[in-house]
Amino acid sequence: MTTSVGVLALQGAFAVHEQRLRECGVAARQVRTPEDLSHVDALVMPGGESTTMTLGIKREGLADPLRAFVKTGKPVFGTCAGMIMLDREHLGCMDTLCRRNAFGRQIRSFEEDLDIPGIDGEPVRAVFIRAPWLAEYGDAVEILAEVDGHPVAARQDNMLVISFHPEIAGETRVHELFLRAVK
Ligand code: GLN
Repeated sequence: MTTSVGVLALQGAFAVHEQRLRECGVAARQVRTPEDLSHVDALVMPGGESTTMTLGIKREGLADPLRAFVKTGKPVFGTCAGMIMLDREHLGCMDTLCRRNAFGRQIRSFEEDLDIPGIDGEPVRAVFIRAPWLAEYGDAVEILAEVDGHPVAARQDNMLVISFHPEIAGETRVHELFLRAVK
């Protein structure tokens, strides 16, 4: 059976994630309903707008199925708004608290070169768009990268979260890091 990686496709940057996953050689499929979620082995939660995404999750009855999905240990990759979805104040899957728009609003979109453990070679060119950072986190959370002393990439159990947009930097190394956790 081929591994199928879902991309939460309620709102936000899901289409480009699908493209990047296909470039990595995996079968990507859109997840919009609990039924869709039951067919995937891993999940990407894309960037977008966390308030809208929260409403979509509620509308589709996806909150409990998403929590259950995380509990099964299947790999989950949350980027930007997706990272916010996983925190204590949203789905409550990760022992983190995100500060939304932490770097400021539109005007503070920026790029930064980041060294991320597990990614060899050149630093990753990280594109931040109205990005959050982790304002708080518990002992189970491993911080992978920071900007100005604020955590922007982290891992807890089967969850990888980053506050930037890896899908628009024209490379797949961050997706590959995530996919290494996918059997
Ligand atoms: N600022 C957005 C929010 O709070 C997240 C931005 C993003 O996903 N690029 O929902």
